[in-house]
Amino acid sequence: MIVILHPNTDEESSEYRDAMSFLQQLPNISLQHHIVQGEEQKLSEIYLLGDTHKVNQSEIEDLDCVERVVRISEEYRILGRHQDKQRTSGFTYNGVHFSQDNCHILAGLCAVDSMENVETMMRILQENGQVCTRMGAYKPRTNPYSFQGHGKKCLPYVFDLAGKYGIKVISMEVTHESQIDEISEALLKAGDPTGVMLQIGTRNTQNFELLKVVGRQTRYPVLFKRGYGVSLNESLNAAEYLASEGNSNVVFCLRGMKSEGGAPHRNMVDFGQVPVIKRLTKMPVCVDPSHSVGSRDRSPDGILDVVHAAAQGLIAGANLVLVDFHPEPAVALVDGPQALLMDELPRFLDDMAQCHEFYQSRKRIWV
Ligand code: PEP
Ligand code: MN
Repeated sequence: MIVILHPNTDEESSEYRDAMSFLQQLPNISLQHHIVQGEEQKLSEIYLLGDTHKVNQSEIEDLDCVERVVRISEEYRILGRHQDKQRTSGFTYNGVHFSQDNCHILAGLCAVDSMENVETMMRILQENGQVCTRMGAYKPRTNPYSFQGHGKKCLPYVFDLAGKYGIKVISMEVTHESQIDEISEALLKAGDPTGVMLQIGTRNTQNFELLKVVGRQTRYPVLFKRGYGVSLNESLNAAEYLASEGNSNVVFCLRGMKSEGGAPHRNMVDFGQVPVIKRLTKMPVCVDPSHSVGSRDRSPDGILDVVHAAAQGLIAGANLVLVDFHPEPAVALVDGPQALLMDELPRFLDDMAQCHEFYQSRKRIWV
């Protein structure tokens, strides 16, 4: 059961103290306090854990500082929506708000290869009004002899350049807990010029020990990718590991499913499930059309399959698009064939903005 307090309830107030002493005396119930920092207000949620079926819900609803009470199902306790349409979604990080209602594009390099390419990318993003990007320093590769990413070596220039060009959030995959410390050290040395969203790749969706470590820190939010070979339910439960350890600032990212059925795409595009995730959880939803489609194939209408897939995600209500760009895809060290070109960025952003607007007007048709 979740007790949601009125926004900005003062913890020194007598209403708050009365409510807490009422809740604390409930038999066989333990309390857990969660703060949800929204764009404008702070929400306090008190989780009642234990024998809640005997609890009288209306008695709690009558407490002065209580806004409402939500009965929770067993699954996705913290990240779940629990059929509560009003449940606040999302979080603000480094001045950027992520929620189930807005939209951000995280265009960038799949893998950092050279300082020049990082600078070109960041400069063009700034010219196009962007404050988010993706930059892979640690790359999990199928083949052990393939380029594994520059790792911590590239972090100083990636962070400096992000600061120089006003980039506030970089989605960066981590495959081991030591990399979180490397990121923190590099940010400190650079004077914290930017922020990092820790990306959990599809190969680590069910790496529960990594999830626990990433969940125990609350400095960085998480972009969590759906597992390419497990059910949606299993992936959502895996995301809940992050929240159960303390970090509920999580974006859930669809990136296609491994299936021969998806061919000629690299993966079976699963963006039809965007609304399902929004219904089941309060996480902002991201789509990754690059890793889903995996090529620069283009249909006769002149639009690349990657762009079509991204549009499908946004029209279904996705809140973020994680997408590979590269100044020179032919020489990219990772995933060149699926990268969009820098001169395609303005058109891509325009298309995506129109898709998000179209989603908003679709909502007005149906409500
Ligand atoms: C990536 O985004 O760079 C990546 C490796 O994606 P995924 O984990 O979805 O394969
Ligand atoms: Mn990639």
